[in-house]
Amino acid sequence: MGGLEARMQKKLFSELGLSPESLKAVAKMGFEEASPIQSETIPKLMEGKDIVGLSQTGSGKTAAFAIPAIERVDVTIRAPQVLILCPTRELAMQVAEEVAKLVQFKKGVRELPIYGGQSYDRQLRGLREGAQIIIGTPGRVMDHLERKTLKLDQVAMVILDEADRMLDMGFREDIETILKQAPAERQTVFFSATMPPMIRTLIKNFTRAPVNIRIEAQAMVVPAIDQVYYEVDRRSKLEVLCRLIDLQDIKYGIIFCGTKMMCDELADHLKARGYSSDKLHGDISQQMRERVVAKFKKRGFEFLVATDVAARGLDVDDIEVVFNYDLPQDAEDYVHRIGRTGRAGKTGRAITFVAGREIWKMQQIIRFTNGKVRREKVPSAEEVEEKRTNAFLETLRETLEKGDYKRQDATIDQLLNAGHSATDIASALIHLLGGDKPAVQPIIEEQAPRREFREPRGGGNYEPRAPRDYPKYEPLKTREARPEKREPREPRPAARPHRHEPSPVSHETGMVRLAFNLGNEQGVAPGDFVGVIAGTTRLPKEVVGRIDIGDRQTFVDVSDESATFILKKLNGIRFKGHKLAVAVAR
Ligand code: ADP
Ligand code: MG
Repeated sequence: MGGLEARMQKKLFSELGLSPESLKAVAKMGFEEASPIQSETIPKLMEGKDIVGLSQTGSGKTAAFAIPAIERVDVTIRAPQVLILCPTRELAMQVAEEVAKLVQFKKGVRELPIYGGQSYDRQLRGLREGAQIIIGTPGRVMDHLERKTLKLDQVAMVILDEADRMLDMGFREDIETILKQAPAERQTVFFSATMPPMIRTLIKNFTRAPVNIRIEAQAMVVPAIDQVYYEVDRRSKLEVLCRLIDLQDIKYGIIFCGTKMMCDELADHLKARGYSSDKLHGDISQQMRERVVAKFKKRGFEFLVATDVAARGLDVDDIEVVFNYDLPQDAEDYVHRIGRTGRAGKTGRAITFVAGREIWKMQQIIRFTNGKVRREKVPSAEEVEEKRTNAFLETLRETLEKGDYKRQDATIDQLLNAGHSATDIASALIHLLGGDKPAVQPIIEEQAPRREFREPRGGGNYEPRAPRDYPKYEPLKTREARPEKREPREPRPAARPHRHEPSPVSHETGMVRLAFNLGNEQGVAPGDFVGVIAGTTRLPKEVVGRIDIGDRQTFVDVSDESATFILKKLNGIRFKGHKLAVAVAR
């Protein structure tokens, strides 16, 4: 391949030679400057060059290819001139929406998404009406080519977005067929996160002297996201989530869960606690999913609980916060998830919960994001109480200022005459209202309804929040409060040896206990062991069982069948500045 290496410079959109209509569109979208990949790609594409772009999620690829594509359209020709191929319908929809925004001031340029699951009628109408920019999945594009309802003879530019994923999904033959049908003198653009050999072959066969552009992960369009994480015991996640939502008055967010079951469970819990929410996961019908997304976009409810897969391609602006209720699979997924907040130059927030041993995974994420994620302490019940007390005072003050209450002069005079001070009387009333109780304040919630009376901004059928079921600020089981070293899920054997005198024998069947030559004195944490074992051997972290950290050594249970392999891989490597010595414990 060879070619240019990108200088990672950002430019202003006005320096890129765009039409006034496109400049107006990016300004309206809130883009202040072009991202590095846009700065590199747009001028090259405008010159007519082929491009091979390697870059991370969230770097702004869509506009990088869509703007030049739009500029290239000849409005006098009412036939497809640009073809954008995407791996999934969700991505096609997402790209189509971005193209629609970019094209909004261009008269006579039309885009048309084409993907499975959508009615042929609409697509046929769009094609007949002369859409010039087609955004589609390879499968559906092939369909139309075979039916001869889509012709590529006027196509001047073909873009393959997320090419590696399209190949993973088995679209290689379709892609080749499509590229062969497009005129040979067209421009071709490949975007891919990775460059497996199959892509190199495609590039060799279907591009002409492409310019290679590579943008590193650091250059992403996501610096405007405030990222924090909390170490939370699994069982306290719900409680902490509610505290954060209340304390920070969060009104519109996505909450990511690891599994469908978790999604169901959490959505139910949130509803029970009076937060309007709905869920999105793979077991929900496509029709239902679309309804949920539409309602969420209209702010018909506050929290969307979703799995990664279901939320892929979900394009919602103005998300205040992305919660990682469960940690994502890897750092890339993390970036993908949090990219949903802080869109279009606005600041967004990402809040991540880390349970037990997951901390080592969080460390990888922190490294990947160049340390942009801060650790925060879980808000205490007192802080939450204080916030509620303040809300109560605020309501009281408002009521006083407005004067919309019935005066009780006679009653109060009686009390004053009996020798009670005004302060005593007011305090007693607050007491009766529950305003001085630390945990139980149902009346305050009714009187100070920060949420119940909130109107959703976009209309939609809003279900008023049921009064919350206080008392709800239960004592937390934070990591600080429970300094145990293991995840709490597995039942602990009845006779658990004291941590500082760990037993060399595993109590679990199928497990072998290994002894490591590091312990508390070397400052190790359980996550370190899971990390070094999984990281060095590439075995799933589930092979690691109990971890007992002693002062100078640590016992780690690992599954029988992997013990020998682990011993072989780990012995002698450097870890935390020490040479590891691992042996079967005895
Ligand atoms: P990629 O395809 O590289 O993953 P996208 O094209 O989907 O990235 O862009 C990610 C997000 O960044 C989108 O919400 C997009 O609107 C926004 N974005 C793109 N370019 C800019 C820019 N120059 N300034 C601010 N936001 C941008
Ligand atoms: Mg993209």
